Amino acid sequence: MNERGGMGKVSEVRSEAAGTKASRSVVILGATGSIGQSTAAIIAGAGGAFTVEAVAGGRDPIALAKVARELGASFAALADPAGYKDLKEALSGTSIEVAAGPQSVVEAALHPSDMVVGAIAGTAGVEPTFAALSAGRTVALANKECLVCAGPAFMHQAAVQGTRLLPVDSEHNAIFQAMNDAGLDSIERITLTASGGPFRTWTSEAIAKATPEQALNHPNWSMGPKITVDSAGLMNKGLEVIEAHYLFGIEAARLDVLVHPQSVVHGLVHFTDGSVTAGMAAPDMKVPIAHCLSYPERLTTAARRLDLAAVGTLTFERPDFDRFPALRVALDALRTGQGLPTILNAANEIAVEAFLGKRISFHDIARLVEQACDRALADGIARDPASVTEALEMDRLIRERTRAALAENSLAQGSLATMH
Ligand code: NDP
Ligand code: MG
Repeated sequence: MNERGGMGKVSEVRSEAAGTKASRSVVILGATGSIGQSTAAIIAGAGGAFTVEAVAGGRDPIALAKVARELGASFAALADPAGYKDLKEALSGTSIEVAAGPQSVVEAALHPSDMVVGAIAGTAGVEPTFAALSAGRTVALANKECLVCAGPAFMHQAAVQGTRLLPVDSEHNAIFQAMNDAGLDSIERITLTASGGPFRTWTSEAIAKATPEQALNHPNWSMGPKITVDSAGLMNKGLEVIEAHYLFGIEAARLDVLVHPQSVVHGLVHFTDGSVTAGMAAPDMKVPIAHCLSYPERLTTAARRLDLAAVGTLTFERPDFDRFPALRVALDALRTGQGLPTILNAANEIAVEAFLGKRISFHDIARLVEQACDRALADGIARDPASVTEALEMDRLIRERTRAALAENSLAQGSLATMH
């Protein structure tokens, strides 16, 4: 796939018929989330093709204990140290080893395995996922924030280790399959599609006043809260263009976005001879997850099937940057470089959190993120991070600055309308 990622080692997946091959061992980071649960469901239905070595979660010890038991993991790690006692209790009487605290999540990532599924939400996923990659594990990557925050370091490490970074994100997975290992010199352009989210047909004024409940009501996909809010403003598509840039090693000018409300075509690869290949599937994350889990073989799954006659019509439209400024801000950050993707990613997480906490309006998310980028450039602190450590330092600094900006700006009025 990505030229920098190289071929790497991917162990065989046992087919039920063959029965003799060793099963592929897997670690799931973010096992209690939306992607984690879909991964668990595929593994549970795969008839012993996979063994789960370790699972990790954030704050919910009960949910983590449940998935650890169901999948027969030997190690369960919870990021929140306060949940240790509950996790221990919930897994008493089993042989599952238990640990808590951020370092335990890294420990889970490093548990011996053939593949690590990176499905932690947000920048919290950077350190453990990078640890897995650095230890030579094949990584099935859902956590796009890893690449937006520290893309060059991740791709460099994948190349150094000769390991695969397999894209779980549906658009990237579709593009990966549509590329079919073609070299970048035969590719003119790559298109990522966006459903357009719940506000696709809304006016700017209506979007500005959207509530968290409305933003969380995605028409096609059922996902965790952060990515669902990102999707509503098309920030998610901006993050995904940045993700595609690093993953496929393709420059920003050759990446574009089409709004496609049916979410059937997830990505398009336009070749230099005019041919176009499309990656298509029903909008079900189990499809790309299964593809990554069994790559380069194919699993038979119960994932939703695509029925084109039932869909009937596929439509495409250009994104509206006026109504969805977050997409413009993200594409600008990619074009400008100087570490702006890292800065954008950090500011966006704080802004989404503030929106979900009803402290800012929906449009304030893009404003706050753009302001963080502009201020970092003006203050001369914007620069490309040379390593994951530098990226995470920048991330922490920008989080502090964004929280301060939130505090200093018209919180009394419950709006950041005066900020720009
Ligand atoms: P969810 O919010 O549903 O799940 C997040 C998971 O991460 C939970 O298991 C959570 O545990 C865990 N977690 C949070 N913080 C930590 C931490 N510090 N250490 C370990 N685990 C932690 O998110 P999604 O599954 O929707 O998304 C996961 C990633 O995949 C995101 O980066 C998203 O952008 C990407 N993605 C998701 C898609 C989807 O359809 N959902 C599609 C494409 C990409 P707990 O619940 O205990 O807090
Ligand atoms: Mg996606």
